[in-house]
Amino acid sequence: QWIFLGGEFVKKEDAVVSVFDHGFLYGDGVFEGIRVYSGNVFRLDAHLKRLFESAQSIMLKIPYTQEEMTQLIVDTIRKNELDSAYIRVVVSRGKGNLGLDPSSCPMPNVIIIAEQLALYPKEFYEQGIKIASVPSRRNRPDVLSPQVKSLNYLNNILVKLEANQAGVQEALMLNDQGYVTEGSADNIFIVKNGVIYTPPVYLGALEGITRNAIIDVARAKGYEVKESPFTRHDVYVADEVFLTGTAVEVIAVIAVDGREISGGKPGNVTNDLLEEFRKIVTTDGVA
Ligand code: PLP
Repeated sequence: QWIFLGGEFVKKEDAVVSVFDHGFLYGDGVFEGIRVYSGNVFRLDAHLKRLFESAQSIMLKIPYTQEEMTQLIVDTIRKNELDSAYIRVVVSRGKGNLGLDPSSCPMPNVIIIAEQLALYPKEFYEQGIKIASVPSRRNRPDVLSPQVKSLNYLNNILVKLEANQAGVQEALMLNDQGYVTEGSADNIFIVKNGVIYTPPVYLGALEGITRNAIIDVARAKGYEVKESPFTRHDVYVADEVFLTGTAVEVIAVIAVDGREISGGKPGNVTNDLLEEFRKIVTTDGVA
């Protein structure tokens, strides 16, 4: 396996980062998770736009243009002879001294990892998953924007740990006012009376690329989709609940805080959208 690191391709065993890298010391950097389906890098432009916007927001200058990053990602996939893969792009502040100040870091570190996919267990898709609301809350969007996909994922890690503690597969993360935002690394949708709802991102959710793709395919199929705030109660009484993300794609939720959803099995709208989503992933993107 070849990793792009420090401007060249190195073997997996040699792909190591300095202990003085501020990405390691402080979580100072940004990242993206991207999927390749049968040679198509799904919505690569959207992922790179988000990466560059995250970097711009934290005053990190990526030492390549978006076109160069596109080429480097394609090269990494080819070099590893992958047809379907998960790509992790990391841009850290790079090496500096032990102080917080990024001005001691002259060169950002760009890393591209292309890996064989570690798929979620098939039962998750066939049977759905259980989620629970957890004590940790989404950080306030006016403090650190959820649109910055930074290397500082402690907030999300805490909610994931809390979901594990609760004995369920994923967390339902609320914001400081108690509105539903998202999962630990996925967006949430509910279906009620045939209408599909997802929280507006200003409440404190990442504007997921899978989320936006699902909104597109749902509207193309004639579903009404609304971005509007909702609470845990709305989730408890929904006809269907599902999560979306690069890793999970579309996954049905069959229980929330112990309340059974859609008779304890994946609902028709969820299945319909997963099927539609799988139709576009091999064509919508960069081949
Ligand atoms: N929310 C968070 C916090 C995430 O980290 C992710 C994963 O990237 C998502 C949602 C889903 O976004 P996407 O569909 O772009 O992968």
